[in-house]
Amino acid sequence: MIRVEGVHHSYDDHPVLHGIDLTLTESRVGIIGANGSGKSTLARMLNGLVIPERGRVLVDGLDTRKHGHRIRQRVGFVFPDADTQIIMPTVAEDVAIGLSGRGLSKADVARRTTDILARYGLAAHHDRPAHLLSGGQKQMLALAAVLVTEPEILICDEPTTLLDLRNVTLVVETLKALPQQVILLTHHLDILHDFDRVLVIDEGRLAFDGAPSEAVDHYRALVSAGGTAPGRNTPR
Ligand code: ADP
Repeated sequence: MIRVEGVHHSYDDHPVLHGIDLTLTESRVGIIGANGSGKSTLARMLNGLVIPERGRVLVDGLDTRKHGHRIRQRVGFVFPDADTQIIMPTVAEDVAIGLSGRGLSKADVARRTTDILARYGLAAHHDRPAHLLSGGQKQMLALAAVLVTEPEILICDEPTTLLDLRNVTLVVETLKALPQQVILLTHHLDILHDFDRVLVIDEGRLAFDGAPSEAVDHYRALVSAGGTAPGRNTPR
């Protein structure tokens, strides 16, 4: 379970999150909001990639400020651009690297790698250079490389933003079938219709927290009212 308690954050004196309190227990949680509203900063806090300036984030009672490494073993993170996540030359190596340092035998690592590549439709690409994969395949590889580590929670920061419709569908169906708790940041609002809970972040504040359709309505209303995020055209 993730708890966010009284979290404030600034970058170089520029405040980006103001007093966020959350307990995330639902299996499928969406996070929406304008560019620059603070979603990614919040998401990165959930596995300790960003430490809040004030307040704290707890994962199963562990504070991200002290237990970043253990928390990242429980909470996987998928970035918007798979190219930034793929670090090894070949597809199989990129998955296997996530299993290093776990005391597994070479044979075990090879078996788990082969299994997960098969599960996510990448078996035929096992020994291919990862950079030669298509955009959709790269995002599936990024996902497989995180899932092979068997996290309990998966944070996905706009994993479909750079994909075409077919690959959006593939990634979304994959995420929806996972046993893990999934926390998904997205601008593809229709993806969220069957989520348990959707948060709307607006200018670093939790503007709405509830059912998907109401959250999307709330977000649309914010935007049509001129919005409160960068690009807004009405004075406050
Ligand atoms: P979102 O995910 O909603 O687009 P972000 O959390 O990425 O929002 O960004 C919120 C604000 O913080 C933006 O103004 C962004 O430019 C700024 N920001 C994000 N990351 C950094 C960083 N590492 N250093 C400085 N400013 C940042």
